[in-house]
Amino acid sequence: MLWPHPRIRRARNVELQERVAAVRRETPESDAWLKLLEAALAETEDGAVWETAVPQPGADRPVKAPLLSHTRITLDARATRGWVRRLLTLALPAQARKIDGVALLEAALCHDDARIDALAASGGADPAALRVAGQMALLPLLQACARAFTADVPPAWWEGYCPVCGAWPVVAEYTGLERKRQLRCGRCGVAWAIPLLRCVYCDETHHDHLGYLTPEAGEQTRKIEVCNSCKGYLKAVTTVRSLAPWAILVDDLTTVPLDIAALERGYRRPERPGYALEMQVVEDGGGRWRLWRS
Ligand SMILES: [Zn+2]
Ligand SMILES: [Zn+2]
Repeated sequence: MLWPHPRIRRARNVELQERVAAVRRETPESDAWLKLLEAALAETEDGAVWETAVPQPGADRPVKAPLLSHTRITLDARATRGWVRRLLTLALPAQARKIDGVALLEAALCHDDARIDALAASGGADPAALRVAGQMALLPLLQACARAFTADVPPAWWEGYCPVCGAWPVVAEYTGLERKRQLRCGRCGVAWAIPLLRCVYCDETHHDHLGYLTPEAGEQTRKIEVCNSCKGYLKAVTTVRSLAPWAILVDDLTTVPLDIAALERGYRRPERPGYALEMQVVEDGGGRWRLWRS
């Protein structure tokens, strides 16, 4: 099959290619999303431009603030706009040239859905599709930050939200023989451990209020962690080894029936991020400074 947009590179990761091909066969309707994922991961593999954008963690950030909070990111304006344009050509071909790529990246970074919706309205784009594209556009930058920050994650980080980018986890992994619980971020891919009996969203620790939903038959490696205090849920998986960052996203896509099962029972995931990042984003070359809060 010919790749429809020659300027978009394919990811070189063979395991990823095989997994994506399998998901495409099983769920042809996910093809548009998979194309965005493949483009984002190819861009991540070729990530020098993103690695140079990784900031120093904010030294004066509050103790519960993620590492990216109170930082300043300098983006290569040309490379950033070129990348977002290529991605939007896949996601929203008719509107790709009408959306400000840097503004989209900034809004997605800060989980500022209202701003993404405003960009969609001004460009005549579907807001839901633009939110998805915005998160995909962010992957190369956030995954470069997570790789650089691995040694900086505080060992005693017990918050439910990501210690690098402030997002809620998309999955809890129970890994290896110890079945240690670790949470995984779907944006930057980082892993962090918090105690077994503790709600990710509201810090509930009383076992009477915490529980699991499990499939009646079949899949033994899957369950859904639920909290009856805040009605939050989180998908969980038992794995031999930690999922690669890209595999977290594919896993999230292929386990939508678990989300439906949780939603049908009155559980939900919070709409707001775990921690709203407070950052400065700078475009090099133009000298344009902005302070973003979400
Ligand atoms: Zn993260
Ligand atoms: Zn809770």
